[in-house]
Amino acid sequence: MALTLTFYGGADTVTGSNFLVEGARGKLLVDCGIEQGRDFSEREMYAPFDYDVPSLDALVITHAHLDHIGRAPKLIREGFKGTVYVTGPTRDLMDIMLRDSARILAENAREHGLEPMYDDRDIDALMSRIEVVKYHQEWEAAPGLSCYMRNTGHILGSGSVRIKDEDDVALCITGDIGATPNVYLKDAEPVTDADVVVMESVYGDRKNTEKGDRVPELRDALKRAIARGGTVLIPAFSLERTQLMLYELSNLMDAGELPKITVYLDSPLAIKATAVYEKWAEEYFRPEAVEEMHREKSLFKFPFLKETPSREESMSIWQDHGPKIIMAGAGMSHGGRIGRHEQKFLPESTTTLMIVGYQAPGSPGRRLQDGATHVQIDRNKVRVRAHVESFHGWSAHADRDGLVEFAESCQPRTKTFFTALGEPSAARFLAQRIHEYLGAKAIVPEKGQKWEITKEGAVQIKVP
Ligand SMILES: [Zn+2]
Repeated sequence: MALTLTFYGGADTVTGSNFLVEGARGKLLVDCGIEQGRDFSEREMYAPFDYDVPSLDALVITHAHLDHIGRAPKLIREGFKGTVYVTGPTRDLMDIMLRDSARILAENAREHGLEPMYDDRDIDALMSRIEVVKYHQEWEAAPGLSCYMRNTGHILGSGSVRIKDEDDVALCITGDIGATPNVYLKDAEPVTDADVVVMESVYGDRKNTEKGDRVPELRDALKRAIARGGTVLIPAFSLERTQLMLYELSNLMDAGELPKITVYLDSPLAIKATAVYEKWAEEYFRPEAVEEMHREKSLFKFPFLKETPSREESMSIWQDHGPKIIMAGAGMSHGGRIGRHEQKFLPESTTTLMIVGYQAPGSPGRRLQDGATHVQIDRNKVRVRAHVESFHGWSAHADRDGLVEFAESCQPRTKTFFTALGEPSAARFLAQRIHEYLGAKAIVPEKGQKWEITKEGAVQIKVP
């Protein structure tokens, strides 16, 4: 049997990355993510996987976002006996992300009378199966299938996975691709040796704000917000966006371009993730950023930053009645500490809500972004009088031009591109542009489709 690829997730949607790759003798999964922006009670998420878990040889993970790892511990419950291959930073970030996810899953499961999808024991078992790999190191992940990872500059430790069989037929699954140039992470590397590439398409149809404009735009918005005298809420994604915001806030305050007001980092998860970023900085950051870190001791910490990991510290933020910035999770306002702050501050007209990340359709964050005057948070109806501002230059994803450039860098070897991990319209738009600009075959995959990977490209296998 030749090399095949089946889309079990990440098709027709941004989240739920999950791809099965089978060779003549071995098989592996790439990513095992959760679908986000959905209610946790949805039984589909709890349903058994559609493939035979005990026969998998390996799980290779592109990066530690939950939409790429969030269901992985469930594999253990279904008899996974293979090896989990990740980079060092991904291992550290996975550990904190999954434990946080387990806590939220347990709460939600309890509310809906369901058994939690997994618990800490499953996470322990999964973590014990990890073998750490580095970029640019080829290894045999499954019998007859070798793997090779390259940096994608999306979050710390993120990588594309190229899988090659014994006939030298090669498939690459990019995971998420970062925007270039990066601030402190190294830029995404081109993939020049894959016959078929499955690439992300989150911003396949959108253009990010020019990077040069985004800091002044943020600075001006923050100045306006601070002049209102109220609270600035930033729903934070704990990986990458938080660190990037801390880095820029620190620079702006140091340069005297922003009033020095307290910035509360009100997320135990983001605090832990920032520590992981600092741990791996020497090896994974750009040389200029490493130098800057040596000079300034830290890229992410500054005198006006207050970390509030405990519940008590978090509760005490409301005693600060002056202008302040609160960064807290969850990034799409679907619960967590930001939910509590939003219920308190969104009804106030002096509040500014700054949206700096992707908001999945159906999430409270998307409704706020779309201008809702009322929003449901933690089952409470909240009146929105706050100013809501969206910023598009802060995405950890390449935009439509960056994605086409990435596809171009895969040429001439790549014969077929799949545009996955995007909303259908973005995936279609990117596929069309790749076809028009590069003359390559570009396909929007559908969930459940199985494809044979050949040197001439991908050929669909009809599944009965
Ligand atoms: Zn990601």
